[in-house]
Amino acid sequence: MATYIVLLGPPGVGKGTQAKILAERLAIPHISSGDLFRENIKNQTELGRLAQAYMTKGELVPDEVTIGMIRARLTMPDCKGGALLDGFPRTIRQAEALEALLAEFGGRVSCVPYLTAEPAVLVDRLSGRWTCRAQGHIFHEKYNPPQTPGICDLDGSELYQREDDKRETVENRIRVYFEQTAPLVEYYRRLGRLFEINGDQPIEAVTAALLAVVNPS
Ligand code: ADP
Ligand code: ADP
Repeated sequence: MATYIVLLGPPGVGKGTQAKILAERLAIPHISSGDLFRENIKNQTELGRLAQAYMTKGELVPDEVTIGMIRARLTMPDCKGGALLDGFPRTIRQAEALEALLAEFGGRVSCVPYLTAEPAVLVDRLSGRWTCRAQGHIFHEKYNPPQTPGICDLDGSELYQREDDKRETVENRIRVYFEQTAPLVEYYRRLGRLFEINGDQPIEAVTAALLAVVNPS
């Protein structure tokens, strides 16, 4: 049976960092809605143009646009055996659309690890985040620094600070998270699929806790 995993948690908690590690270990694709939007912006598509104004302000892109983009991605053949979703769903409506979509493939969300950390930790992490231009690899100037400042260890491309990692936007994103995404915690808890994990530990400790949940054998 296909394994669809949803990584839940506030901005900056470490979803992208962990998703890249887990996807490789589990040999399933990592699908990041934020990365898909950023790719569309880079390629100047219509979808990118639509998403950009919302992203710059730290608001959510409208559900119908986001759901359409994820549907197109999950329908690709590499997702037949499952996928690791990072940043989607972010609203109850998106979660319901995901259930309906996976049901079409005879699949469902099997497990929802929920990473937690205090808002002060999130702000500290986002304000020191450096992202790789080519493939979205993630670094932190203090906690996970690249070997050479400004250069990605993995593919040698330039590292940049995301426009929406500015302090005012970060605060808005965290507020938007508590208003619109936090209700998903109860949604998945009621379905019996939620596993809470302390995200305020070293990267390797969080990975170990995640592996214990997604691969319990
Ligand atoms: P998210 O995808 O949830 O927004 P990221 O994975 O992009 O979070 O991580 C946000 C920032 O925090 C990055 O700069 C990343 O290097 C750093 N980071 C991720 N996990 C940890 C951790 N366990 N401890 C310290 N810093 C971390
Ligand atoms: P982070 O993990 O640091 O919160 P993301 O890269 O996941 O950031 O998302 C960046 C921005 O992309 C969000 O602030 C939002 O504007 C948009 N976005 C990403 N995923 C979604 C989603 N599922 N629904 C609506 N907007 C989204």
